[in-house]
Amino acid sequence: MATHRTKMLIIGSGPAGYSAAIYAARAMLEPIVVQGLQPGGQLTITTDVENYPGYRDVVQGPWLMEEMKAQAEHVGTRMMYDIITSVDLEGGSPFRAVGDSGDEYIADTIVIATGAQAKWLGVPGEQELGGKGVSACATCDGFFYRGRKVAVIGGGNTAVEEALYLTNHSDDVTLIHRRDELRAEKILQDRLFKSPKISTLWNKTVENFVAGEDGSLHHLVLRDTQTGETSTLEVDGAFVAIGHAPATELFKGKLAMDDAGYLDVEPGTPKTAIPGVFAAGDVTDHVYRQAVTAAGMGCMAALDGERYLATLEDTPAEAEAAE
Ligand code: FAD
Ligand code: NAP
Repeated sequence: MATHRTKMLIIGSGPAGYSAAIYAARAMLEPIVVQGLQPGGQLTITTDVENYPGYRDVVQGPWLMEEMKAQAEHVGTRMMYDIITSVDLEGGSPFRAVGDSGDEYIADTIVIATGAQAKWLGVPGEQELGGKGVSACATCDGFFYRGRKVAVIGGGNTAVEEALYLTNHSDDVTLIHRRDELRAEKILQDRLFKSPKISTLWNKTVENFVAGEDGSLHHLVLRDTQTGETSTLEVDGAFVAIGHAPATELFKGKLAMDDAGYLDVEPGTPKTAIPGVFAAGDVTDHVYRQAVTAAGMGCMAALDGERYLATLEDTPAEAEAAE
């Protein structure tokens, strides 16, 4: 067990965490990134990434994250293979965090970049066919189903937005919902029902994702929630859109969050209500949820962290006024 002292502790190693690290390291803040259970974050569980600027051709998610990590290390970031299990934000800077390893982190500023995880149905075939027809992100993967038949599972805003987005690529989109009314906002519902490219299957749950001979998704086995009858639906792509869960358990009772668990920040900034504690990426963003937006927020958090540290070097009164 060791104690690590840093000007900036970055919790999370997705695009937000690594970008914060690149900026913080170049500002000589000697940041520490605690990588968590999923080093590299959500993009490490996908294959083709085609919308991250800077690459003309498709790049692989795990490769892209390795590159970001290498860049962060190259400029002076310390990577820790640890998971933060508790944080003490009371009393202001310096803050204290403890890792699963037993190591202690004392930090003048903290950037929370713990991300969010798409919720999955947890039925057979779903994980096995990830990247082979099953996805949780239409903005990311919809393009690969141009002119093909796709389904979206869910009835909230995300599902409806995913279905509408997919009509840019496909004329045959089926929304599958477990009830007979949507949870999504009325305006989105109106758009959905007006689209000639989208049909809805009510009162159905997916029991199974089934592969064809080529090993990619061939059809869904559905169960009617009213009658219990099963049926099949042939699709090339299925998008599970039943919500995202931000990784904020650690901060319950310590930082303000919305009903869905996303951390509250001052609008347009990564600042939480505690001076010196910042949140960036999917952990605070239920709207955009993209690698590039997460990276942008990571940059903002590092820059604001740097400014906050400069105020600490001023007199306490000046520091308070600057906040
Ligand atoms: P994440 O990538 O979620 O990273 C969170 C990090 O926090 C992880 O490293 C995790 O280990 C760490 N962590 C969590 N808890 C702790 C803890 N207690 N202690 C320490 N570390 C912790 N976006 C695109 O722009 N293009 C795409 O093509 C694309 N494809 C996608 C495909 C899939 C299958 C998925 C699921 C998402 C995809 N996305 C895509 C969305 C994109 O991955 C996310 O928007 C982005 O990764 C969010 O970055 P983040 O840094 O906020 O968090
Ligand atoms: P959500 O509102 O929680 O909706 C999840 C949907 O998935 C619900 O329709 C739910 O069904 C269904 N579902 C959940 N578990 C399921 C399961 N195991 N099997 C089948 N269906 C299941 O999630 P979300 O749509 O991702 O939205 C999350 C938050 O982000 C919301 O606050 C939303 O308003 C916000 N958001 C906003 C925008 C926007 O403003 N444009 C866009 C996206 C998201 P039931 O309805 O039966 O519960």
